[in-house]
Amino acid sequence: MRYCIVGAGFSGAVIGRALAEAGQKVLVIDERATMGGNCASERDAGTGVMVHVYGPHIFHTGNERVWDYVQKFGDWVDYNHRVQAVAGGRVFSLPVNLLTINQFFNKVMSPAQARAFIAAQAQEIAEPQNFEEQALSLIGPDLYRAFFRGYTRKQWGVEPTELPASILKRLPVRFSYDDSYFAHPYQAMPRAGYTEVVKAILDTEGVELRLGARFEDLDEPFAHVIYSGPIDRYFHHEYGRLGYRTLDFERFSHKGDFQGTAVLNYCDEDVPFTRITEHKHFAPWERDQFEGSVLYREFSRLCGPDDIPYYPIRQTSEEAMLRKYVLRAEATPGVSFVGRLGSYRYLDMDVTIAEALDASDRMIAAIREEKSL
Ligand code: UDP
Repeated sequence: MRYCIVGAGFSGAVIGRALAEAGQKVLVIDERATMGGNCASERDAGTGVMVHVYGPHIFHTGNERVWDYVQKFGDWVDYNHRVQAVAGGRVFSLPVNLLTINQFFNKVMSPAQARAFIAAQAQEIAEPQNFEEQALSLIGPDLYRAFFRGYTRKQWGVEPTELPASILKRLPVRFSYDDSYFAHPYQAMPRAGYTEVVKAILDTEGVELRLGARFEDLDEPFAHVIYSGPIDRYFHHEYGRLGYRTLDFERFSHKGDFQGTAVLNYCDEDVPFTRITEHKHFAPWERDQFEGSVLYREFSRLCGPDDIPYYPIRQTSEEAMLRKYVLRAEATPGVSFVGRLGSYRYLDMDVTIAEALDASDRMIAAIREEKSL
């Protein structure tokens, strides 16, 4: 009997390939007509720009195994991600760094002076319990209100006091002029786009790929199912729907260079979108050859039953619901739940790949054990 992998994103592709290389027959299905899940990329027919179809993805990692792994499936070009933010009608550098602090407070402080200045503003909260407390204890009220409060309310649709502190921990605060958005040693973009990388991972003997196919419609027994779809969907939402934020992209074109950078965040609440992304700037090595430009204005809202899930919200009520699904999953033999949707966690691409490699190791070890019995 063969293995069935549901979802042709990074999780499914990595596990599918590993199983096939270990001698198993694998069927990989995806209900979309494309591979790559939400990382999918394709060239815009009009301008030629590589567009990140479901919003921008920047690959960054400190994991050597993951870095070595992805090298095998495409040519990666170094890319140092930088973000600017509009707040109160002015443009600042993000994540909060010495330039942001000096410009925001109209000062010329050294790293030590800025550290002391921010420490004097920050509130002493021994163990921050939520996003707002985490921000107030890290950067104080002024920077929090300018850059995080409005953006976070737009992005998550709830009060920052109702969100876990962990969301903010994704972003550093730096007392230097280092404005690199990510601190990881490896940051890169695939020259041919993410879809080609996933395609290359799946391009191996033993893998049958079926796009535009729903798992619910399959009628065939499998040795094991590796499910990277939403865990609540697998169980027909029996305990309710896990909450996600979805994104609406208002796609528009421009002649020339619209904003001079890949990502411009809009932190003020009177602007309805969270950010504008200009996709040719994600590919600096080729950007100047395109006259036109493709941009996304990004709006966040609660995910409905027919929308694409992006960010797991993970409020307290959802944590309780998730526990029920996880218990149910553990009691369901023959199925493994993987990836962002299968585990209801917001995973960066590198973590997704690392977890998929680990899951593959475990599955292959189990197959070998069974065979030698
Ligand atoms: N955030 C913010 N203002 C910004 C950028 C980020 O308030 O200008 C908050 C927001 O709540 C976001 C979180 O910081 O969800 C993490 O930011 P990150 O850039 O990691 O967001 P993602 O990559 O998930 O879009």
